[in-house]
Amino acid sequence: MAYFKKVLIANRGEIARRIIRTCKRLGIDTVAVYSEADAEAPHVSEATEAVCIGPAQAKKSYLNIEKVIQAAKETSADAIHPGYGFLSENPEFVRRCEEENIVFIGPSAETIHLMGSKLEARLQMQKAGVKVVPGTDKSIESIEEAIQIANELGYPLMLKASAGGGGIGMQLVHNQEELIKVFDATKQKANSFFNDGTVFLEKWISKPRHIEVQIIADAYGNVMHLYERECSVQRRNQKVIEESPSPFLDDDLRNELFEAAVRGVKEINYTNVGTMEFIFDEHKNFYFLEMNTRLQVEHPVTEEITGLDLVELQLKIAAKERLPFTQDDITKTGHAIECRLYAEDPFTFFPSPGVISSLELPGDDVRYDFGFVNGSTVTPFYDPMIGKITVHGITRDDAITKMQKALEAMNIQGVKTNLLLLEKIMRNDQFIGGNYTTEFLAEQKGQLLGS
Ligand code: ADP
Ligand code: ADP
Ligand code: MG
Repeated sequence: MAYFKKVLIANRGEIARRIIRTCKRLGIDTVAVYSEADAEAPHVSEATEAVCIGPAQAKKSYLNIEKVIQAAKETSADAIHPGYGFLSENPEFVRRCEEENIVFIGPSAETIHLMGSKLEARLQMQKAGVKVVPGTDKSIESIEEAIQIANELGYPLMLKASAGGGGIGMQLVHNQEELIKVFDATKQKANSFFNDGTVFLEKWISKPRHIEVQIIADAYGNVMHLYERECSVQRRNQKVIEESPSPFLDDDLRNELFEAAVRGVKEINYTNVGTMEFIFDEHKNFYFLEMNTRLQVEHPVTEEITGLDLVELQLKIAAKERLPFTQDDITKTGHAIECRLYAEDPFTFFPSPGVISSLELPGDDVRYDFGFVNGSTVTPFYDPMIGKITVHGITRDDAITKMQKALEAMNIQGVKTNLLLLEKIMRNDQFIGGNYTTEFLAEQKGQLLGS
């Protein structure tokens, strides 16, 4: 069953390849777009057609709405899949697709706009009766205002860009002095990264665990969850390892979480796939953090435990088909873990671009979602993630053992990566015990890397 004739993928790297894979299986033609820096990238040759949309800088290519729209028109694509990052959460892009009668594979422009603002999302969730992280619900304009609100809330606090993403644009502050020091810079960073200088304050949750719920909703009001993902192994507020089920939740708490996530999503008449992110404190209270209105990097974890293809479901929903199952039909089996392999210095976490001179991904019981092949160049222009390694086991222990073996057998040369760090985490007692928070990596890094 072909939902569309031709889908343009407005992205690059592993996610472009991932989307092409499902389209191919469904007999849908694909159009890759690429920047001059990506002319040799694997997603370009794997698509049915490819269009160069400009120079390396993302602003001039992957973020250039008119270039992408023009490529879709030239190739007569009837739908666009935005992947994650780039234009995936840009309401203006969705509007332009609508104007050109091209289906945007994702939620409506209005929903993206609402949830793209963390402040607005907080308001919507409170309306739905979903608890949000204690904090302010308005934009903070001046340092005087920030100090006053901070005194009311009490330190430590997180100063956050309302439009932020990818762990960028947030700053932990322990006291007034620190707040004064970072306020202007955080606002400026928000402006330069997200074109929106709106910032707000949230209580810092100590010993936090990041647990999110995968949501799926069709155009007919059917909203379901596809279980949770635990994403507490992070660096610089960005995920490194994800797993499902979460070792932190019992079934009562899990159901409470799903109920809140589904309630929140119903409030905003959401369609397509999306992720409700929550943060848990050490007493197992949970609070809404933000919603991502797109396919998530870590979606393979959910695909492994449910056996569903999330990209196919996205196409189906965008083609205005009904979801072919009810909540009770969705089941999960076993335990899945994903590791993100980054081209970066494992100590400083600074990106490490270069040529991948050797890449071996052995094993047939391991899922590799990689944007690069042997000989590919990791350029400094885009996110330094090289790929994702996902395993599925009968139990959590079984999955950890499989991941240990997969990482050990893997070989990558030419660029610095976090491979050794991932291996050490998989052998760390605290991780194996399931007893970790988002502070785990920062606390343990030195010991894990033996320095
Ligand atoms: P996920 O939320 O799926 O776990 P990440 O936070 O790691 O993924 O982000 C995935 C990619 O999308 C990264 O390249 C990141 O820089 C980019 N990204 C995420 N949110 C935004 C945003 N609001 N604006 C721009 N880029 C974003
Ligand atoms: P982004 O849009 O960049 O993904 P999030 O609001 O989802 O931003 O936060 C990213 C990560 O930062 C979270 O997963 C968590 O580890 C940390 N974080 C964010 N807000 C808080 C908070 N109030 N208290 C503690 N940690 C937080
Ligand atoms: Mg987030």
